Amino acid sequence: MKKNITIAGAGLVGSLSALYMKKRGFNVAMYERRDDLRLAKITAGKSINLALSERGWTALKKVDAAKDVEKIAIPMYKRIMHDVQGNLSEQAYGNPGQAIYSVSRSMLNLVLMEKAEKLGVDIHCNQKCTDIDFETGTAHFEHTNSNEKTSIHSDLLIGADGAFSAVRNQMVKRSRQQYSQQYIEHGYKELLIPAHDNGSHKLEKNALHIWPRGNFMLIALPNLDGSYTCTLFAPYEGQESFEKLKTHEEVQEYFEKIFPDLVPLIPDLSDQFFTNPTSSMAIMRTYPWHVNDHTILVGDAAHATVPFYGQGMNAGFEDCRILDELLDKHNNNFKTCFEEYSRVRKPNGDGVQDLSMHNFIVMRDKTAQPNFLLQKKIEQKFTQLYPEKWTPLYSMVSFTNISYADAWHIGMKQEKLMQSIMNIPNISEVWDSDDIMEKMLRLL
Ligand SMILES: Cc1cc2nc3c(=O)[nH]c(=O)nc-3n(C[C@H](O)[C@H](O)[C@H](O)COP(=O)(O)OP(=O)(O)OC[C@H]3O[C@@H](n4cnc5c(N)ncnc54)[C@H](O)[C@@H]3O)c2cc1C
Repeated sequence: MKKNITIAGAGLVGSLSALYMKKRGFNVAMYERRDDLRLAKITAGKSINLALSERGWTALKKVDAAKDVEKIAIPMYKRIMHDVQGNLSEQAYGNPGQAIYSVSRSMLNLVLMEKAEKLGVDIHCNQKCTDIDFETGTAHFEHTNSNEKTSIHSDLLIGADGAFSAVRNQMVKRSRQQYSQQYIEHGYKELLIPAHDNGSHKLEKNALHIWPRGNFMLIALPNLDGSYTCTLFAPYEGQESFEKLKTHEEVQEYFEKIFPDLVPLIPDLSDQFFTNPTSSMAIMRTYPWHVNDHTILVGDAAHATVPFYGQGMNAGFEDCRILDELLDKHNNNFKTCFEEYSRVRKPNGDGVQDLSMHNFIVMRDKTAQPNFLLQKKIEQKFTQLYPEKWTPLYSMVSFTNISYADAWHIGMKQEKLMQSIMNIPNISEVWDSDDIMEKMLRLL
């Protein structure tokens, strides 16, 4: 008998997991709380975008979805830093040709949903998961317009319903389910740099732009229509915080003082500032990621993180690939598969969360420091000389499928070693010498 799979949430990870499950030959039905994305008019720009990197691509390739996504992806080969005077400096993300990719969230979601539907996945929108009976394996949904209630019994319920997952909330009510959430003191707000009248980009297109300002920052990722989506990450309270920006004049003054080269790029800056919401960010942890042989969590529902490594979606896509490999390994035996899934994926959920917090400090503060840029140059040279001995942390996370837990562990060891190199008194003069490379080799 074919197994019946119910997925709560048709976001990025839910839609990809539907593709994976359908390709295994299961019957798959997805239930999504929001209106039907397929009926909305989605355009190439004016949308929130995300950075897609190697492990995301690897997971997409395995279900033949990468080709469709390539059409909507813009490669970003480097970060370009904007200082307060408007001077630019830049840093390549990896070796020549290596890039992370800017993709519109809604277009990516649409591509995956449409592919899943073509394969025969049933998609039900305006259906909110409200409750789960773990004894009988029944999920309860309520129509968001008519309030009509539906109960679905299936062999497997996949909770892909995001950071505020209803599936996880029901799991937490059970005995011994671990759970924690930690909000950070920063919030974020999106702003749009429109394209030039001729549709071209106002900044260099194939780059992620950063305005690092110590305790906070602004970033911009390119869209296909020539616009850029910016995200301001700032503290809710205190100096130079959201709470200080109450009037159009205060907003204008703040941007002119802190991000002066951005001001001419956004003609309706303060209007956008007050129209767009300020949203919070949190890290959510739970364990285990399964209940018996009939419920599992994937994506943000299992490991929501702060967005500073651009890895939340990539990690969720990786969950789908690893789960598929484990189903192969366990011959579709859900019980033994899910036990291993929880055990092997949880350290990687923790790993991506630790990496994300670490990269916030790198982006907002370190990218503005000449010493940090020098350290990266030294690491790059060493990698080119000894590629089998050293992969920089950013590359491990963004350009390989090395597990997040291993990347975090190796990265922290590398950081310690680099600190002793950076403490050499005249390092800025001697960094290019053979001595430095040999010293690194000895310290490894
Ligand atoms: C500002 C910002 C920038 C980011 N940038 C990046 C980036 O560059 N790269 C990257 O990899 N990640 C990034 N992320 C993280 C990324 O957005 C998430 O990790 C990713 O969206 C998780 O996908 P998901 O499908 O698990 O959850 P979601 O995308 O949240 O999807 C969950 C779906 O479930 C639905 N749902 C919710 N509750 C219910 C319910 N009760 N019943 C039914 N359906 C429900 C929702 O409507 C939604 O469609 C960023 C996040 C933020 C906030």
